[in-house]
Amino acid sequence: MPHFDLAALPHRRYNPLTQEWVLVSPHRTQRPWQGQVEAAPAETSLAFDPHCYLCPGNSRAGGARNPQYSGTFVFENDFAALRPDTPSGSIQERELLFAQSEAGQCRVICFSPRHDLTLARMSVDEIRLVVDTWCAQFSELAAEPNVRAVHIFENRGAMMGCSNPHPHGQIWANETVPDELAREVVTQRDYFQAHQSSLLEDYLKLELEKQERVVCSNEHFVVVVPFWAVWPYGTLLISRRCVPSLPELQQAERQSLAQILRQLTIRYDNLFQTSFPYTMGFHQRPTDDGSYPGFHLHAHYYPPLLRSATIRKFMVGYEMLAMPQRDITPESAANHLRDLPATHYLER
Ligand SMILES: [Zn+2]
Ligand SMILES: [Zn+2]
Repeated sequence: MPHFDLAALPHRRYNPLTQEWVLVSPHRTQRPWQGQVEAAPAETSLAFDPHCYLCPGNSRAGGARNPQYSGTFVFENDFAALRPDTPSGSIQERELLFAQSEAGQCRVICFSPRHDLTLARMSVDEIRLVVDTWCAQFSELAAEPNVRAVHIFENRGAMMGCSNPHPHGQIWANETVPDELAREVVTQRDYFQAHQSSLLEDYLKLELEKQERVVCSNEHFVVVVPFWAVWPYGTLLISRRCVPSLPELQQAERQSLAQILRQLTIRYDNLFQTSFPYTMGFHQRPTDDGSYPGFHLHAHYYPPLLRSATIRKFMVGYEMLAMPQRDITPESAANHLRDLPATHYLER
């Protein structure tokens, strides 16, 4: 195959997890920026906010009152998108109008009683409590008869539609396997059947050999800007050992996970010296009785920022109609993130 300069010429890259493509246009990074520059939004400095529905002891919109929790705290979302008592039913007219009931649960997990913290500013031991809570929640929900998928995720920052700065995430469980996870189940299963090794294990080996897109790593986890990243600074967090879900992680691995979550979020905050917005979440095996050979635990980070605390990437036009497109290459993004200080900018 003739040499092709990925750093200079337009090309498309393949995502083997989803079988989708992304258009990369590195030559465009030279063009002048004409967007609006705004000041970064102010960050909260209140350790306790009497009006926050997530702070300890405060009452929530549904009338419930939070306990005086000191570590993590999980509760059923008062405005849940899914409800466990949804009766089962469906409608169908020919193959054109088709709908099915969907039962499930939506929980909220407060990462800390402190209103003013984020994962990037919590200690490894405090984040470890979050990791242990995620593990326990996954096990608990997976054991329920009508739960086939559990999604653990975090929307951070107003830019990602998260209106409350109190550090928290979501845990959604439902009775079908959603499309995005279903796709990655199939691609990982097919790869495993063809190669007798996990897709992400082999991908990780390649990335560790090349060292072009690795952002940070420790004994049990590696973070890369994936070859096929869509968002400018999107990353993939992969466990070195192929396990299908969080509860299979051993104690030392859980500690390493807490450590790398901290490392990565500090780098993100340092990139534009702002509390970096993102959506992140884990992909874990479906929770029915099926077997999932080759399914490899990982987390996706999808941050919207492109060039500063306020200049973000939009998915519009060609992206909505055809395929996602990016200008800055994943290799440049990985270089930027890797070269940042490992200490948070507010603590230097
Ligand atoms: Zn709060
Ligand atoms: Zn995934």
